[in-house]
Amino acid sequence: MEKLHTFGWYAARIAPYLPKKAFQPVPERLWAGLAHLLVALAGILAIGLIELSVWVNLVISIVLGCTFASLGFLGHEILHGTVVRKAWLRDLLGGIAFFPLSTGARLWRKWHNVEHHQHTQHEEKDPDSWLSIEELANNRFLTWIYRLPFGIRAFVSFLSLTFTFTIHSLRMFKLYLKDFSSEKKPIVWFQLLLPWATWLGMFVLLGPVKWMFAFLLPLLIGNFIVMAYISTNHRLNPLVDVNDPLANSLTVTVPKWVDVLHFNFSYHTEHHLFPGMNPKYYPLVKEKVMEMWPDRYHQMSLSMAMNALWKTPRIYYKQNDLIDPNEQRLYGSLGNGLDPNNIEAKDMDKKEKSSIRRSTSG
Ligand SMILES: [Zn+2]
Ligand SMILES: [Zn+2]
Repeated sequence: MEKLHTFGWYAARIAPYLPKKAFQPVPERLWAGLAHLLVALAGILAIGLIELSVWVNLVISIVLGCTFASLGFLGHEILHGTVVRKAWLRDLLGGIAFFPLSTGARLWRKWHNVEHHQHTQHEEKDPDSWLSIEELANNRFLTWIYRLPFGIRAFVSFLSLTFTFTIHSLRMFKLYLKDFSSEKKPIVWFQLLLPWATWLGMFVLLGPVKWMFAFLLPLLIGNFIVMAYISTNHRLNPLVDVNDPLANSLTVTVPKWVDVLHFNFSYHTEHHLFPGMNPKYYPLVKEKVMEMWPDRYHQMSLSMAMNALWKTPRIYYKQNDLIDPNEQRLYGSLGNGLDPNNIEAKDMDKKEKSSIRRSTSG
């Protein structure tokens, strides 16, 4: 593999080609957020106050799920400080945008801005990276999942995308709460409990059926949409010791109107190069990256990335490969032999096979 570089190394080489305004906050992004928020409120009120048929409720639910996801993408942007600069306003607006997904602003900044961005795809330090074969041994549930036949396991993994963000967010709360000072802990708790208290209050007020259409189903849909991106952002890439966004991240491509709805979240490599830059300018960064390091840059359509995700296991083997521990098959990662157009297990010689057998047997 070519020598890895930090995101600062790349950023320093691209920044001279970018206009100054690319580094200034863009509060106009909030208008789109307001539109999503109004649609979400109108949808919840319609389900709550009007007796509608199941089908109309279902359509509203789907729209709500899409706005939950879009607001989450905007929340991500706001909490990186690229929309408004004032810290209290950033946290307030970010908290509102993340309210449907019930993730607190402070927790998110710690989990995502600090830990994920500083240690992307680091085997131990990135809270979002997947397990290595050594770590799998300590995870009974996943060991069991990997014993399931391939088709069922892939289906279960995809189904789990409908709740992974919410569950992972609760896990992150448990993991990082201890890192907040005793003065900050109450606000972190408040930012967790307020959304959940609201959704539970809505359950009491609306009853289970309307609540399912107004919150539960949209939450599952919103989870699936954000996880479709999050799970393809890094999980086809290798684990790395140097935080090199061109090696450890993937940019997916979606139709233009989807990029508009999702605030350019698809440009994930660009985002890791310039997390403090408003995503509005990522197409510019992409142009430069493709000019300067065309062989290192990874991009593909979201559907192709999802297809690659379906066909490959999620356990890392020696950082660069993905291993199916049950069938003892090895697949490359992006930049390390994985061809998304033609996904096949690697050919292995006897020595490799026996080394894999050893690492998967205990
Ligand atoms: Zn990322
Ligand atoms: Zn980010």
